Amino acid sequence: MTNQQLMQEDLKYIFHPCSQMKDHEKLPLIPIKKGKGSYITDFDNNSYLDCISSWWVNLFGHSNDYINSKIELQIKELEHVIFAGFTHKPAIDLASRLVKITPEYLNKVFFADNGSSAVEIALKMSFQYFKNRGETRTLFVSLENSYHGETMGALAVSDTGLYKDIYKDILIKTIQAKSPALVSEDEAIEDMRRILKEHRYKISSVIVEPLVQCAGSMKMYKPSYLKKLRALCDDEGIFLIADEIAVGFGRTGTMFGVNQADISPDFMCLSKGLTGGYMPLSVVMMTDEIYDSFYCDYNEGKSFLDSHSYTGNTIACAVANAVLDIFEKDDIINKNLKKIELIKKRTKKFEELENVLEVRQTGMICAIELKGYSSDERVGLKIFEQALKYGVYIRPLGNIIYFMPPYCFNKKEIKKMIDITYLVVKGLLK
Ligand code: PMP
Repeated sequence: MTNQQLMQEDLKYIFHPCSQMKDHEKLPLIPIKKGKGSYITDFDNNSYLDCISSWWVNLFGHSNDYINSKIELQIKELEHVIFAGFTHKPAIDLASRLVKITPEYLNKVFFADNGSSAVEIALKMSFQYFKNRGETRTLFVSLENSYHGETMGALAVSDTGLYKDIYKDILIKTIQAKSPALVSEDEAIEDMRRILKEHRYKISSVIVEPLVQCAGSMKMYKPSYLKKLRALCDDEGIFLIADEIAVGFGRTGTMFGVNQADISPDFMCLSKGLTGGYMPLSVVMMTDEIYDSFYCDYNEGKSFLDSHSYTGNTIACAVANAVLDIFEKDDIINKNLKKIELIKKRTKKFEELENVLEVRQTGMICAIELKGYSSDERVGLKIFEQALKYGVYIRPLGNIIYFMPPYCFNKKEIKKMIDITYLVVKGLLK
């Protein structure tokens, strides 16, 4: 089979995510045959360096031998089992390991199967915590420019108009506070303080993406904001939800973004890197206090009855355990420090280009914001197409080019990712 044949077959049947299908009248859809390490290869044998970790999920490369071996072992034992009334060893191991490596008060783990569902669960739980105590708190607060997923609750706390605006009439009511990634930290925290005061006893939780608003143009802010936000939530007696779905598992340089602020949120949502890009799985971690608020006789009606069919999938949990093994045995967080430095050094040259507004970086996330292009020009698409010709796969967010490579990238691959992109961006000036 060739790329062309498979693309034609695909377009007969499939409606792809986050895509305008008409684009594919001109823009080839790329059928991927295999992946190994940092590369994915199509049916015409072109290989591409996966510089965005296949939508920020892949950590240790494609078809990783160690993870593969753990899947093989697991699949011979048990592929999946209902997670209500039953349990299994991979889930128990994973939950206990997550409790050990996450901030101190996160002692209980609720499983789901994708990031958006984890956000829904944290929102529902924070609402129900107060409901179980006889209070109805209908509001949730998030940040401007935030992104928390595509399901209705997750979209409602998001603020990325491109995905949200069309559904505004049917979403639950939420409030967006100023983002420290867009205004000064003082202004952002004052705005949050004002909102929390104004709607006192009506708000159950505040949800944020620690340090980097990824889908929101990779806008970044300092850990000190999180520390102040933690204190504000404590003062107001409301929950802080850390959505670490994109930034967790080393993306910001530390294992979790909140580590840099030295805070413990009340809820933490994890997905993406949790399974190293292999399987859909997510968890919501919470404090004992939250867990205890649902713990009662069944007839009291305070149970949390949310469920998803593939909750705690056994193979996914085995994969997540393999991912944690790799973090430990290969000392990944420390090893990434050199890669982070190399990315910083190598992307400096972008700052001199007249079509570059800013280069920003937090750990293993680096963004280059372009200037001088209208959204109609779709410059990101042009860059994507050009870079792909040279075997570099990037997927800009509008005028923002970003690198979020798997941690298996070696020096040569990091240089290739940056240097090819540089030539493409510079080429736009001609
Ligand atoms: N929260 C954040 C911060 C995300 O970046 C994403 C996905 N990009 C989600 C939630 C939603 O996760 P999923 O796509 O698995 O539903």
